[in-house]
Amino acid sequence: MASTTLLKVTNVSKSFPTANGDYLALADISFEVQRGSVVAVVGPSGAGKTTTLRCLTGLLDVTTGEVAFDGHPISGVPDGVAAVFQDYSRSLYPWLSALGNVMLPLRARGVSRTNAKVAATESLQAVGLEGKESSYPWQLSGGMQQRVALARALACNPQLLVMDEPFASLDAQTRMDLEDLVLALHREKGVTILIVTHDIDEAVYLSNTVVVLSAPPTTVAEIVDVPLSMDRSQLTTKESPAYIAARHKVLAHVRRSEG
Ligand code: ADP
Repeated sequence: MASTTLLKVTNVSKSFPTANGDYLALADISFEVQRGSVVAVVGPSGAGKTTTLRCLTGLLDVTTGEVAFDGHPISGVPDGVAAVFQDYSRSLYPWLSALGNVMLPLRARGVSRTNAKVAATESLQAVGLEGKESSYPWQLSGGMQQRVALARALACNPQLLVMDEPFASLDAQTRMDLEDLVLALHREKGVTILIVTHDIDEAVYLSNTVVVLSAPPTTVAEIVDVPLSMDRSQLTTKESPAYIAARHKVLAHVRRSEG
């Protein structure tokens, strides 16, 4: 039987060489991501949230420690991981249509043109972009472009969807719509999600577990459970006592980490 742990991070550290010697960005990071869960990583600015995500997805080598995905230590980006980044304007190819952008990783994996077109069309439908298949990124709003990036990430049926501040560049209303889209996709597809955000409300609203990072040299300051069903609403969830208590805990730990 498959283990319930999809991603296991054990005593990871990461140093960057600088003119003044090595800079220890991550001192000691350990946590687990269970299959089917949503885990949010928060922390003060410069805490190493992006560095953590890059180490966990094989985009950066760790200095010490181990990251295991699906039971195996990673080296490079594992199959089964897809990513959505903050800067949608640079992550989509402007010379390809929405459909072309979503088909690209499928074609790169050897999926036939016909099958890639079917899968990409379905994925665009799932993110609410039916009818926009032939639009180019520059013809779409920021929110729509980020939906294309989400459709592209989901088209390959990843086991783990990682997102780095995916909605930080969007206006508040679009951001809420996309948070709810992510929750709906999570419910429908059961994909495991790891999201990095500096927004504490977003972290608590989207996740089962919030990992709070300390200031550098960074460790895990606290792991906070969010004891709410995944059937969430921007109105009622955010007024529920369990949400408010979890938000309070996370905010208190972030404030403490900021010193
Ligand atoms: P966060 O996402 O929490 O704002 P980052 O992960 O972007 O933080 O960065 C954490 C720290 O590591 C910062 O001080 C940053 O300057 C440093 N850092 C990140 N990448 C590099 C790099 N390639 N070389 C040197 N320092 C880096």
